[in-house]
Amino acid sequence: METKKRKKRKAFVDEKFCVACGSCVKVCPMSAIQVYNGIMAKVNLEKCVGCGKCAKECPASVITVKEELYILSEEVKVNEKEMV
Ligand code: SF4
Ligand code: SF4
Repeated sequence: METKKRKKRKAFVDEKFCVACGSCVKVCPMSAIQVYNGIMAKVNLEKCVGCGKCAKECPASVITVKEELYILSEEVKVNEKEMV
């Protein structure tokens, strides 16, 4: 499968300070963020579209959306086109 490097906006959780409230999970339109073991939220970077809804909702302000370089598979690119 062909891979490409592209800059994408993605959400990151500062897991040390996450209180596992689940608010981010409820608002994510892509189901890209989950609370694991009732301890901390983690973002699935392949699903995340960087919309920032989770960051706005987080009561602990531990989510930031950053633009970084990612290696994306062709499969992910096809999914992105379907969402537009
Ligand atoms: S930035 Fe948007 S798509 Fe990414 S995890 Fe947060 S709510 Fe979901
Ligand atoms: S909203 Fe914030 S504190 Fe709550 S689970 Fe998500 S990242 Fe953790």
